[in-house]
Amino acid sequence: MIIKPAFSPSAKDILRDRYLWRDENRNPIEKPEQMLERVAKHVAGAESSLAMQYKWADEFYDVMAKLLFLPNSPTLMNSGRPAPHGQLAACFVIGVEDSMEGICEALRKQMLIHKSGGGTGFNFSKLRSEGAKVNSTNGRASGPVSFMGLFDKATETVQQGGMRRGANMGILNIDHPDIRKFIHCKDKDGTITNFNISVGVFDDFMEKVNSDPRGEEAALLAEIADSAWRTGDPGIIFLDAINRGNTTPNLGELTSTNPCGESPLYPNEACNLGSINIAKMVKEGAFDYELLGEVSAVATRFLDDVIDVNHYPLPEIAEAVKLTRKIGLGVMGWADLLFQLRIPYDSKEAYELAENIMRTIQQRAHETSVALGKEKGIPETLAHLGRRNATLTCIAPTGTIALLANCSSGIEPLFALEHTRVRTQTDGTKVIMKQVNRYYEQAQKEGLPEEVMKRVFVTSHDVSPSAHVRMQGVFQRYTDLAVSKTVNLRHECSVQDVLDAYTLAWREGCKGITVYRDGSKSSQVLYRKEDE
Ligand code: UDP
Repeated sequence: MIIKPAFSPSAKDILRDRYLWRDENRNPIEKPEQMLERVAKHVAGAESSLAMQYKWADEFYDVMAKLLFLPNSPTLMNSGRPAPHGQLAACFVIGVEDSMEGICEALRKQMLIHKSGGGTGFNFSKLRSEGAKVNSTNGRASGPVSFMGLFDKATETVQQGGMRRGANMGILNIDHPDIRKFIHCKDKDGTITNFNISVGVFDDFMEKVNSDPRGEEAALLAEIADSAWRTGDPGIIFLDAINRGNTTPNLGELTSTNPCGESPLYPNEACNLGSINIAKMVKEGAFDYELLGEVSAVATRFLDDVIDVNHYPLPEIAEAVKLTRKIGLGVMGWADLLFQLRIPYDSKEAYELAENIMRTIQQRAHETSVALGKEKGIPETLAHLGRRNATLTCIAPTGTIALLANCSSGIEPLFALEHTRVRTQTDGTKVIMKQVNRYYEQAQKEGLPEEVMKRVFVTSHDVSPSAHVRMQGVFQRYTDLAVSKTVNLRHECSVQDVLDAYTLAWREGCKGITVYRDGSKSSQVLYRKEDE
């Protein structure tokens, strides 16, 4: 018996607007349950026999319909589309070589990946600086920042299958001569809007900042912090932390991540993500680790299968992916889980629970990957790991799938207990959705003591910057790839608060850090009730 999926009315709206397949008149030709069936069957198509395909299609459908697990958006949207469509991964990285051919090549890849539904990350540090000599023409190079404008324009022009716009990560290393221009490249509102930008820093840079607060490194970091305080950009990527966590150093150094920072990848690599809704795992007032373990195992198999049924936009991507078979299993609904268990986000109990949950997922995912390796084979490049996938865990932002699962996003605290969300539909019209967090509403009805309400139902601005960073650090400890997290700061915070967050993030072993000070950009996706 096929169970009905537990989608909320607003999740059904989102599905109808952006996920369900349509006919030429743009009318949906499938229902939400048919979408999940399509996804489950297509992904289980990677299994070896018909019997196995039926068995796993049922299991995959079950975890999705119960909203215990959802894969990243491209898998929901594109599963089952015939080749050359049917691209299922959200994250890609593209290498950029220092030549006109290299730049054109990267641009070509970016456009094809965006068209297929994926987001792209680039490290532009190989490009020579602005004004440097161009041998062939005796001219002067325009530098990485001006080329980024080209990649930004291309993004604007290519819609991802009409569903969403491509996102990019642009990275420049701290030792590149154009770094100051890069730090300020988004100063003016409305420039390079399709890029998140991050400065790639190394441990020795951070060490110098700390040992010499008056040195040029400290001044540069202060300039980054000041810019981030004013505009939210740039973020920072800790390249040494990323490479310490690299499970395939034999394949070279990692220098870039995907757009939201959660997937450090090699050029041409792609990674598909999926998230477990831990808010759905409360049984008799306690966290249900048994269920978490079971769902982790099913989800790992699901994501590994996605690799085999995915239609990659370029042959070199298909080849790079099969070498490492990276997948990213993570969580969503963390804040909602804490609400149900009456645990404050910024408490020792929360850090411990985070650690136990993420450790369980990582262990189960690794065990499953070892077993899958025995069953289906291990790529030669991963023989030293003894498992089928170079990486298994990752914390994605879950920007849309958390709305589909009706839970809080990723590991973020709630932005507000009540809010309105402005959503732009495919036809360009905007809908305003009003929402009160249901656990908050329920607790209000139950009449919990005022101090408990205040302590438990905290929002991102009630949580101190250091607690945000510590939470990211705890999840990172059990995450093979990286953690997508925004350290949301109050409008009144200082540049020093941002600098302190950077140092703490580096010490905690985070692979990057993004801060966002309330009201520091002219448009925000989310508005609090009082802002209406
Ligand atoms: N992404 C993208 N365009 C978007 C949103 C996301 O290309 O408009 C990519 C990007 O690589 C991001 C990843 O998808 O890091 C995961 O984002 P998220 O978890 O928010 O995606 P969801 O599956 O919830 O749509």
